Amino acid sequence: MQSRRPQAIIDLSALNHNFTRVKQLAPNSKVLAVLKANAYGHGMLPVAQALKQADAIGVARLDEALALRAGGIAKPIVLLEGFFHADELEQVVASNLQLVIHYREQAEALLDAKLDAPVRVWLKVDSGMHRLGIYPDEFNALYQRLSQSDNVQGPLRLMSHFASSDELHNPATLAQLQLFQQITQHAVGEHSLANSAAVLNWPQSHADWIRPGLMLYGVSPVSNNTGAELGLKPAMTLASSVIAVREVKAGDAVGYGGSWIAAHNTRLAVVAMGYGDGYPRGAGNNADVLIRGKRMPIVGRVSMDMITVDIGAEPVAVGDSVVLWGEGLPVEQLAHCVDTIAYELLCNITSRVQFSYK
Ligand code: PLP
Repeated sequence: MQSRRPQAIIDLSALNHNFTRVKQLAPNSKVLAVLKANAYGHGMLPVAQALKQADAIGVARLDEALALRAGGIAKPIVLLEGFFHADELEQVVASNLQLVIHYREQAEALLDAKLDAPVRVWLKVDSGMHRLGIYPDEFNALYQRLSQSDNVQGPLRLMSHFASSDELHNPATLAQLQLFQQITQHAVGEHSLANSAAVLNWPQSHADWIRPGLMLYGVSPVSNNTGAELGLKPAMTLASSVIAVREVKAGDAVGYGGSWIAAHNTRLAVVAMGYGDGYPRGAGNNADVLIRGKRMPIVGRVSMDMITVDIGAEPVAVGDSVVLWGEGLPVEQLAHCVDTIAYELLCNITSRVQFSYK
């Protein structure tokens, strides 16, 4: 029997296609593939297994890195938030993880620790985003001390993160790049700055390591283009099924609050997908789905488990597959309709959705 459960179908070959696209754009840089937040909702372990060509993997937190190691991933893994308690350093060493050091006290704790083996460190500088990163005037002293520490393996890697690389006309990115280069000018070590938008927009920032996340999943990080327009393929299709088809008459109000009133007699498909699955409630009366390859509008509010779609005279039947986003219906467009970003929609899918990998 066909499942009526909402499905997230992950196309692993699309991930590799996107990886190849990334390499075309930044052929001389190594790739730290960003797989935090369950690989942006795509499933961290299968994505890590698929991205064989990545030089390293970036996750935010220790539990994410340990899950990858437990799943047999042997590649270098970088903890983008570094460590939080000194006790975690034992696990960092035991699991051969790499650390981002982004504030002075964290550096001090690493310098003071008694470790069984040295750790690879990425020293993160705040070049203007003012979120994580050591202050520019702390750089020289911390760089010296960390470089000379027995707890640190090999040359430090030097990194920063852009605040606005998705905005082509914003001078902030070049200002950040310039400041980073100035701060690190007397230091030895590989550099890393570029997230997806910088991979696309700011080739001068590519340096030794790029750190793409969103574009690996086939989604555009810039608002003026979809992933497809940038040569990317969406790795995720979010789909479900029609569970009922019904007729409504002109003047009938549909769903909670009766927020949509039929202007003429029509037919509705009820689809098993709601905010309980992570589909955004703001899509009510505001976004489309694809049924039998055609775009049709969601009418009425999104409920916890269902949406209603105006199918007019289209030959839609119970059991038909419905695409909520994926090829032909970019998640970027839905994000725009509901006033958020694709990152959030991808991360918000709940455990009710069944994942499969092809
Ligand atoms: N590098 C760091 C430090 C990040 O925090 C992130 C994600 O937020 C990325 C790279 C990847 O960003 P994007 O998904 O925009 O490519």
